[in-house]
Amino acid sequence: MTQNERTLAIIKPDAVADGHAGAILTLIEKAGFKILAMRMMHLNRQQAEGFYDVHRGKPFFESLVKFMTEGRIIVLALERENAILKWREVMGATNPVNAAEGTIRKLYGASIERNAAHGSDAPETADYELRYFFSSVDLLP
Ligand code: GDP
Repeated sequence: MTQNERTLAIIKPDAVADGHAGAILTLIEKAGFKILAMRMMHLNRQQAEGFYDVHRGKPFFESLVKFMTEGRIIVLALERENAILKWREVMGATNPVNAAEGTIRKLYGASIERNAAHGSDAPETADYELRYFFSSVDLLP
């Protein structure tokens, strides 16, 4: 039997502000993910810096934090077989220029920074990121 896996997804401020949240939720469901939990929020600086702590010190960190705090986001806990890799496939490459046709970042991303969506990149980061936004009762099967 194949094991279900969980990942954290974010519909970023650009995509929410541009009215693409509904289309992205449809893509999520069409790709076979179960939405375990979903939350709309407007991150403050401290919350955004904490989430992107691994990028602290990089040249784009300040700009990334500013972008991620500019408006509402939608945070989702997603579940399916091979969820982490599958969600990254549905999102497409970080830079929309390199993203495959039909992916979220190709469809809705404007630049390497304003790229419409986030996804965890490994099981350990998925655990950390899911706990960052959701409590255990939100994530019950
Ligand atoms: P991801 O896992 O595909 O989201 O990519 P990363 O973990 O490398 O980067 C996190 C986020 O930082 C990306 O989704 C972009 O929003 C932003 N980012 C990554 N690389 C760059 C860059 O070179 N310049 C800028 N301005 N933003 C970047």
